[in-house]
Amino acid sequence: MSGVTLENVTCHYPGAERASVSNVSLDIKEGEFLVLVGPSGCGKSTTLRMIAGLEDVTDGSITIGGRDVTHIAPKDRDIAMVFQNYALYPHMTVRENIAFSLKVAKYPKDKINRRVEEAAKLLDLTQYLDRKPKALSGGQRQRVAMGRAIVREPRAFLMDEPLSNLDAKLRVQTRTQISELTRQLGVTTVYVTHDQTEAMTMGDRVAVLKDGLLQQVDTPSNLYDKP
Ligand code: ADP
Ligand code: ADP
Repeated sequence: MSGVTLENVTCHYPGAERASVSNVSLDIKEGEFLVLVGPSGCGKSTTLRMIAGLEDVTDGSITIGGRDVTHIAPKDRDIAMVFQNYALYPHMTVRENIAFSLKVAKYPKDKINRRVEEAAKLLDLTQYLDRKPKALSGGQRQRVAMGRAIVREPRAFLMDEPLSNLDAKLRVQTRTQISELTRQLGVTTVYVTHDQTEAMTMGDRVAVLKDGLLQQVDTPSNLYDKP
């Protein structure tokens, strides 16, 4: 039971005139790939950041894997987040970058090595494990960021515009890789984008936000293929 549930979730930033996200309810099933889509400023990042625990929930509740995490610290939520700027450590190798969170959590060395090698294999990074990020292409860096996220075997995978720094061709390739990887892992995924094509091609379901309000939640074919 690793779904993510939002119940009447609101975020009103201190001092802001109105709420950035208002009364959003969403039931994301275990293993589902849900895309949050909408124009810039509609509240996508804020919603994702509340799920991650990086933004305070003003009202409502969030459940991950059946556990109410509304007031739980980000590190204790059993989630992993991938940002648009990758946020890799430049002085560390790919292996050290992927291993980092396991090291911090004091996993035994052999377990770390096994997990890192499994992640590298899944992401086609085995031959780059001893390189530094600056020696990699944008797409490879993006995969290292994903490796760092999956290595903890989180209950949910949160991605905020992970393709926005890639050129058009690489975006299509990486889109496919992300879809395949998350389905292979069976991990519940919440994916933020302003790009309708990404929403349509990647989502099991798509949640459309506008001005902080949830407009529609449905499968891509129901949302976009209507005559
Ligand atoms: P996005 O790509 O999600 O539209 P923005 O450029 O709107 O990102 O925001 C970038 C950063 O600035 C985020 O960390 C966001 O929380 C912060 N931010 C955006 N709007 C405001 C605001 N009105 N007041 C304070 N911080 C803001
Ligand atoms: P999106 O990700 O869809 O671009 P955001 O969630 O970043 O939208 O922002 C939603 C709204 O909240 C915007 O009006 C933005 O300016 C505002 N906002 C974002 N971060 C902050 C912040 N830290 N403080 C005040 N307002 C913010």
